[in-house]
Amino acid sequence: MQLTDDEIREILIKQKKRKRRQQRMRRRITLLFIVILIIGAAVTVLVMHSRGNGVGILPAKGVIFIDPGHGGSDPGSASDGRNEKDDNLVFAIAVKKALARQGFRVIMSRTGDEDVERARRGELANESGAQLMVSFHRNKSNGKGQGVEVFIPSDSSRESQLLGMSVFDALISCGFKERSIRTGTLESEKEDYEELAAAEMPCCLVEVGFIDNKDDNKLFDDNLRTNAKAVATAINDTFTELYAPEEAEKAEESAEQ
Ligand SMILES: [Zn+2]
Repeated sequence: MQLTDDEIREILIKQKKRKRRQQRMRRRITLLFIVILIIGAAVTVLVMHSRGNGVGILPAKGVIFIDPGHGGSDPGSASDGRNEKDDNLVFAIAVKKALARQGFRVIMSRTGDEDVERARRGELANESGAQLMVSFHRNKSNGKGQGVEVFIPSDSSRESQLLGMSVFDALISCGFKERSIRTGTLESEKEDYEELAAAEMPCCLVEVGFIDNKDDNKLFDDNLRTNAKAVATAINDTFTELYAPEEAEKAEESAEQ
């Protein structure tokens, strides 16, 4: 068969068009692939940041050390089959999650039912580079006591006082009764609990209600997440006040407007 010049031209034009279509399709696929990659990377960054595990690309706001009291062979106080070490861990994990959501990297002295020496907890806080440390405990007084008690180191640094008072106020606003904010230990105003003595950053030890008081246990169990969030916000506010005062001022100004 003999092709005319016109027919040859037509064929060539068709071929060119087909090639262009294929190129367009390839470009579209490449673009779609790039978009998917970007979205995937963004989601990964957001997830890692929201988990606050420090692996994310976004930097953490700061480092907070959370210490669930007792653990392992040391159950702490006990009442009606309820062990303080378990309550402390449950509460600490809830606070950790709330802090992570607020952008902090959170390090814990223990994440399971483990033995950790009291002084070692303070040392771990120092090693973690934490800027604040809070120890969680629960009180006991054979059914006679109720409410929140906070211990701060006997040097009564302004920073530890601020931290202790903020956490105390947060728990009172959650419905716990006011008991006391005190320096030192239960036995002595001049001696410190070993973990607080060893810690080099502002710190406090909080007794989140009494383990042998029904009302305190009800508040503790029923409002776990709300209580933890309030405590995390108190820690966040203290952090901002101590380490980012310009931000604290800005927040105050915008609240006034
Ligand atoms: Zn305790």
